[in-house]
Amino acid sequence: MELTEAQFHRYARHLILDEVGEEGQEKLLASRVLVVGAGGLGSPLLLYLAAAGVGTLGIVDDDHVDLSNLQRQVLHATERVGALKVESARDAIAAVNPDVAVERHAARVTAANAGALVAAYDLVADGSDNFATRYLLTEECYRLKRPLIAAALSPFEGQLSTFRPYLGEGHPCYRCLFREPPPPDLVPRCETAGILGAVAGVMGTLQAVEVLKELLGLGDSLSGTLLMYDALRTSFHRITIPKDPACPTCGTAAA
Ligand SMILES: [Zn+2]
Repeated sequence: MELTEAQFHRYARHLILDEVGEEGQEKLLASRVLVVGAGGLGSPLLLYLAAAGVGTLGIVDDDHVDLSNLQRQVLHATERVGALKVESARDAIAAVNPDVAVERHAARVTAANAGALVAAYDLVADGSDNFATRYLLTEECYRLKRPLIAAALSPFEGQLSTFRPYLGEGHPCYRCLFREPPPPDLVPRCETAGILGAVAGVMGTLQAVEVLKELLGLGDSLSGTLLMYDALRTSFHRITIPKDPACPTCGTAAA
């Protein structure tokens, strides 16, 4: 793929970096990323991936834009309240970068569709707000050997990691970290728990950086590490996640 004159101009600040350059930019334009959830995390994530020129963005979300979403879901707009989020996202992305093809999946991730969705992309970014989706993506990304970059939010905190358990030792999966989903009544969701909107912005933006690093093979992968952000203390810290040999998904004892 040869970059056009307009693309040389648009991506000039990438092209000038030795770590990206023309080769890296062409790699991004040829990449296919699946973003699950066009909400608080998906908003900055999709905007930055689109701006960076990730060529194909698949978006999974069955929800409609609600006025109460706009406090944190900066991809959407007041005039698009009531529209499907995947449609609103497509319009927002087209306005940022017409180089990007958007594939809309107005559905929830289920056991029936998860495999086909994951298989159609190079990498999956999970910005969903429920454990059923998280576990399905964990299974399918492991089986199909796709990097999974997952973020989660609580009112003033965020977590982020990259999962590549198919690489073996030192590379845990989400279930090595959380074996079973917590009981549903213990899981606060944004709709009921509240959240400082900008916290979602921080985490979705960090997630975009990690997606771009994985696509370009830059720096250190977060695989094997959980990054935690505490907004009230303004602190970041990282912990090492061990691979669980008895993990039902990726453990050697499970085979
Ligand atoms: Zn595991």
